[in-house]
Amino acid sequence: MRLILLGPPGAGKGTQAKILVEAFGIPQLSTGDILRSAIAARTPMGLAAKEIMDRGDLVSDAVVNGIVSERLDAADCKPGFILDGFPRTIAQAEALDTMLADKGLALNAVIEIKADVDVLVQRVVSRGKETGGRADDNEEVLRKRLNVYTEQTAPLVAYYADKGLLKVVDGMEAVEQVTAKIKAAIGN
Ligand code: ADP
Repeated sequence: MRLILLGPPGAGKGTQAKILVEAFGIPQLSTGDILRSAIAARTPMGLAAKEIMDRGDLVSDAVVNGIVSERLDAADCKPGFILDGFPRTIAQAEALDTMLADKGLALNAVIEIKADVDVLVQRVVSRGKETGGRADDNEEVLRKRLNVYTEQTAPLVAYYADKGLLKVVDGMEAVEQVTAKIKAAIGN
């Protein structure tokens, strides 16, 4: 099973990805998590990405495409994977198409988790406070990330709809219900 989870920050992509990892026994590939690990490890890539992420902008396509291409070659991705937070631009989606074609692989589905912007601001700002956490989980940066989503990532909905891969689920329902709808959408 090769899936993409698409949706704005706070829509529940990470939460659902973790549940699907257990259900299907395939890894979650979160470019955000990989970048945060690189920051924590103070690698050159992490150091370069930190400032960009802290202000809510996107890291360059070249960097994230490289991360994903390398990650897809790992043995645990053989049975499939769940992409969470990638692709985020049309250029990334095109690069992913090329990578998958080169590896002889195809996507099964792209799940758009739809969410209401005001609810997202609430959710993410409280996540930032509770976890004492992510530098980019404050209201100002979140609004920036939502704008970036609308401008650069939302066009992927039409991109994947055109390919017949898009499934839409309502991300405002309870976690278990969203999971059930994702499973139904992919025929499980
Ligand atoms: P969220 O879904 O809450 O926005 P992520 O963990 O997916 O959080 O991403 C956090 C930040 O990491 C993004 O705002 C961006 O700076 C960077 N990032 C993650 N994935 C990508 C990507 N595919 N392209 C560019 N930047 C990315």
